[in-house]
Formats: sequence, structure tokens, C-alpha cells
Amino acid sequence: MMKLEFDPGLIEEVVFTAIRAKEEQGDTKLSEEYHLQIDPIYENFSLEERPIQFRKVEWDFFHKLGFVALVEKALDEFKELEELVAGAVIVKAKSKHDEGSDLASDLNRKNAKKRMKVKLLAERFRDHIFLEKFLRHEIMHILDMLSDAFGYRSEFLGGNPMEQCIVTERYSTFWDIYVDSRILKDGKETIGSRESRFEEFSALYMGFSEEEKKAIFDVLWNDENLTHGKILELADDVNKVLRLSDDKIPENLRQKKKILLPGALCPLCQFRTYKWVENLEEDIETVQDIRQDFSNWSAEDGACDRCVEMYKSRKAISHHII
Ligand SMILES: [Zn+2]
Ligand SMILES: [Zn+2]
Repeated sequence: MMKLEFDPGLIEEVVFTAIRAKEEQGDTKLSEEYHLQIDPIYENFSLEERPIQFRKVEWDFFHKLGFVALVEKALDEFKELEELVAGAVIVKAKSKHDEGSDLASDLNRKNAKKRMKVKLLAERFRDHIFLEKFLRHEIMHILDMLSDAFGYRSEFLGGNPMEQCIVTERYSTFWDIYVDSRILKDGKETIGSRESRFEEFSALYMGFSEEEKKAIFDVLWNDENLTHGKILELADDVNKVLRLSDDKIPENLRQKKKILLPGALCPLCQFRTYKWVENLEEDIETVQDIRQDFSNWSAEDGACDRCVEMYKSRKAISHHII
């Protein structure tokens, strides 16, 4: 069994919550047992010694209530994990948003292997079934991070904070699809269903038609060889996502117009834009001007408002001179 550590703050909250829950059900046995061990600490130990003693008691209860076994069981499901990490640390998350997993360097022991870290809310321990699914989901993320084939690395995302936020959100949605699809195909349970992951995907690509969304999601759901690089590429480029459905949807049903999503690159200036010029194809003069500089460009490729404005003002100036 790998080395398993828990954040004392998490243990404390989980134990308190469990005792309180029993009390609310009218069962005071646990609370009495707890006080029987805690109260003498006040008499027998100095102020400085007490915290350590409290932690010992809390750890005993945490163990006795079966919480350690729950986590061990989840880790045991993935035998290959023990070889790959130096240990596991379970930490209390600050909020739902803070929950997740990561790999941490083991600085003290100069170990080449990293420790896996899972952050979660104390309340997760109240629902054992959910906790099991949650841990399984997080361990799959960890295994991906450790897989050479997946090629995980931390990236510096370019662009402004809003763009980084969009790419990050898409990245984690694609990765969650990849994680949950494999767990479900393996006949196990996880925190997301095919339906809920489709909803999340749909919400990120509202510009796609229903047919396209379904076809693209299907490709993603069945892909068992996604990599960090591929996911990042998709998160970064809407048109690459759209192209996933190319051979699934007959040509005549494909969207005629390219979808110009906020945050995509303007083909002219190569800057991200949130302001595409609408109905640009109707402005024949500007389209022709742009095509003089960009012969492969067509109106359906779109252009940002700054580029279009620049072409228009250039036109205005040349008219003026004439
Ligand atoms: Zn996830
Ligand atoms: Zn532009």
C-alpha cells in the first residue's frame, strides 16, 4: 500500500461533521465517545501539547469511521498507481472550484517520483458512493498526467485573462469527457454521465448546430487516445473542433457559413477577436480590398472589426486623395 496522508484540517472537519450528523439522528454514542477522549486532554496536557493530542484522537475517529479505508479502496482499484507515485495526499479544498488533483514534487526525500494530491471538500465524505466516483475520476486525471503517451505538461497560455479562462474551461471539459468516457466504458461509475458531459460541451460551443455538436461529441467520447497536445489544440481552435465531425456529417448538411466564435483568431491580423464583423460578404468593396492583400481569404473566413475598419479608412483616404 502506498503512503497515504491526510490534511489535519480535513480530518477535523470530516470527524466533526460525522459526529454532528449522528447527534442530529438522535444517536449520541459517538459524541460521548469523542468527549471521553478529548476532555481529559484539557486536564492532562499543557496548552502547547494539546493540539497534537487532539489530532491523535481525531485521526483515531477518522480511521475508525472507515474514511481511510474508503480512500484506500479507491486507490487500490488502480494497481499501477503504486509504482508511479511516491504517495498520496488528501487535502481539504477551499471551495468546490478548488477541488481537483495534481502532482506535487517530493522535495524532502529527493524522490524522482511525485506525490499525487487530491483536494476535496470535507462534505464529500458524507456521501460514500459519490466519494468513490469522485476519487476514481481524479485518479484517472492523475494517471493521464503520469502517462508518457498523454504527454501532460503545464503550459503558459497566451492571450489575455479572459482568453486564458476560455481555453482553460474548454480544456478541462475535453479532459473530463476523456476521463469519464473511459471509466464508463470500463463498466464503472463516475461523477459525470454521457448526458451531463454533452451538456457541458454544448454550452461551450453554442454556435454549432445540434447535429454538429452531437457528431463532434460522439468522436470525442469514443476517442481513447486523446493527448494533452490534442486537447490543448482543440481548446484553442474552434475550427479544429468543428473539423472533428467532417466525415460524420454529409457535405450538404454541413454548415455553409464558417462559425466565427468569440476568442478565435482573426485570419488577417492573427489576433484573437471578440468582435467579428457581421455580414461582411455584403460589403463587396471591402471584401475586394482585403482580397488584394490576402488572395486566399474569403468573406466567410471573417475579419475582426479593427481590420475591417482599417480597410475602410484606407479606402476613405484614397478616395479623398483622388
Ligand atoms: Zn475532472
Ligand atoms: Zn483582424
